[in-house]
Amino acid sequence: MAEAESTYDMPIFDPVAWRLTDHEAELAGRARKLGADKFADRAETWDREAIFPTANYKDMHDAGLLAICIPQDHGGEGGGFRAYCLAAAEIGRYCGATALTWNMHVCSTLWTGTLADDLEMSDDVRAQHADGRARHYARIVKDGAVYSQPFSEGGAAAAGFKPFSTEARSTDGGYIVSGKKIFASLAGHADYYGVLCTHIKEGKKPSQRDTLYLAIPADAKGVKVVGDWDPLGMRGTVSRTLIFEDVFVDAAEELMPQGVYFKAASYWPHMFLTLSPSYMGMAQAAYDFTVKYLRGEVPGTPPVKRRMYPTKQIAVAEMRIKLETIKALWFQAISEARYNPSKDQLLRAYSTNHMVMETANEICRLAIRTCGGQSMLKSLPLERLYRDSRCGSLMLPWTAELCLDRIGREALYETGESDD
Ligand SMILES: Cc1cc2nc3c(=O)[nH]c(=O)nc-3n(C[C@H](O)[C@H](O)[C@H](O)COP(=O)(O)OP(=O)(O)OC[C@H]3O[C@@H](n4cnc5c(N)ncnc54)[C@H](O)[C@@H]3O)c2cc1C
Repeated sequence: MAEAESTYDMPIFDPVAWRLTDHEAELAGRARKLGADKFADRAETWDREAIFPTANYKDMHDAGLLAICIPQDHGGEGGGFRAYCLAAAEIGRYCGATALTWNMHVCSTLWTGTLADDLEMSDDVRAQHADGRARHYARIVKDGAVYSQPFSEGGAAAAGFKPFSTEARSTDGGYIVSGKKIFASLAGHADYYGVLCTHIKEGKKPSQRDTLYLAIPADAKGVKVVGDWDPLGMRGTVSRTLIFEDVFVDAAEELMPQGVYFKAASYWPHMFLTLSPSYMGMAQAAYDFTVKYLRGEVPGTPPVKRRMYPTKQIAVAEMRIKLETIKALWFQAISEARYNPSKDQLLRAYSTNHMVMETANEICRLAIRTCGGQSMLKSLPLERLYRDSRCGSLMLPWTAELCLDRIGREALYETGESDD
């Protein structure tokens, strides 16, 4: 039975103070309680053994959260971009790997749902898209199907600079797909891999405009999961390598009609900000841990108070300032995410992603330094938060480095300008 509200951590974003809608507050609250009741205790196992949090996915399906962004008339929860971000941050507090992999799954519904609704499509294409996504949504709502989102290939494509090397060639009734995806979270555990690949057209150079977004069934002939998985952090994501060897993919498995993914990436760039909520949650968790630890209130540790030392008070103050800064910036960015954002909004989105990813790890670093040696034992969550949070800056296409590149370039050059 669920515990009384008072025994839970406070919401990261208090619904009244941050003026959340009732729907957003309910979804974020549901995620927070599930995280606290079920995911917090299990997180150590997924991390130590680098295994996928299958039990968490069953619970998320039972709680309706696999369908958080599926429209209500398809049986889902009808959450929008901001509702999803708020809920994912709450999950990230308790299990980073679950939150990050949930992001890959949810994007397959968010991008095909409210984001796609904003994009220009002819009536025919929109009707085709409506049919296609209904099929994917039904699998998730009824069967608890899990989708992943492998697009990294180890080249410049995932950074957004080149067409994907994974190729799809037209054939009777669909496509033949060949290629390789690295760091494919949920590899071996998703039911469908939401693969980005380039539609190869005879006599035409491969183009990013011809990117296809296909749901490849995990059990399709020619799909292989290879390599091991023993990373620093986010170990439960099981991001192994996927190989596609002449895989036949039915045309009905398009997650978006031809050409629509390119429009989404061009006109709805905040779609790439969805990797940040997991890290927002980890930043909050490291801060919460520190306050409890210094008050001598962390379960399983001696009730020793360390809060009376001025240096520790200053460290907590610094952590709080960093946390409040990223919360305010992040909340603004997820609130203004929209079709065709202004330049100002886009630069703020890059800045937000950079700040959240880097600051989450900085808060964890300060937490370990100020709590001390006993706080970083593997029996406590802090050292896992430290390792998991280190991974945020590496997520393409908006790595910390690429956010800096984009901010600097786009602040100094208007579209089409050069110094030649
Ligand atoms: C825990 C975890 C889970 C992941 N899950 C997924 C997933 O589910 N799906 C998925 O598609 N990917 C996933 N990734 C992969 C991630 O998005 C990156 O693709 C991956 O970390 C890149 O690794 P790399 O060594 O090949 O990077 P490289 O391509 O070698 O890049 C290294 C760094 O150089 C910079 N860089 C890259 N390209 C350029 C360029 N053209 N110009 C300037 N600078 C550049 C970037 O800052 C980048 O971080 C995951 C990664 C991690 C760590």
